Amino acid sequence: MTMMRTANTNDVLLRPLCWIGAAAPLDRCLFLDRDGVVNERILDGYVTAWHQFAWREGAVEALKRLLDEVPLPLVIVTNQSGVGRGLVPVETVVEIQERMRLSLQVAGVPIAAWYCCPHRPEDGCLCRKPLPGMLEACRRDLGVALERSYLIGDSDSDVEAGKVVGCATWLVDTPRRLSEALSDVIVRERARNE
Ligand SMILES: [Mg+2]
Ligand SMILES: [Zn+2]
Repeated sequence: MTMMRTANTNDVLLRPLCWIGAAAPLDRCLFLDRDGVVNERILDGYVTAWHQFAWREGAVEALKRLLDEVPLPLVIVTNQSGVGRGLVPVETVVEIQERMRLSLQVAGVPIAAWYCCPHRPEDGCLCRKPLPGMLEACRRDLGVALERSYLIGDSDSDVEAGKVVGCATWLVDTPRRLSEALSDVIVRERARNE
């Protein structure tokens, strides 16, 4: 029996989806995982429609406080294998991202870029975290120095992707930890700018 591959996982698309809203070059950035950091994770599942999307408590406010203190470009890097598994249409992932981006923009939290790996683990792409392909794509697209950049995620694979390219990383599993990690970023940025 042969397995059908969906149109979303053909080899031509073994690259991350991306949206870039900032002009290169950026010196450094803060990479943010999406589910479990900015919005609530859906346990054992995927955000398959905007009505399922829920901000994590305090996340937007914490990001706004960060940007009030230090002008750091924010870059979302998210694994969305629900696309490759045929559970979430790619258009829906893009729509959710766009709604999220516009809401953040209105809240004073502009997003510089967004990268999304739509592949399944078995697709063999280079962008699915823990591989650092999305971070490297951001370096190529925007010129960020990864070793001067930061990454905040809620899973080991996020942190692993950041560590392997030299980012300072934080594992956050509660909204409080997100706000603490962002405070650390502010301290580091201030030290760097002194
Ligand atoms: Mg996550
Ligand atoms: Zn991928």
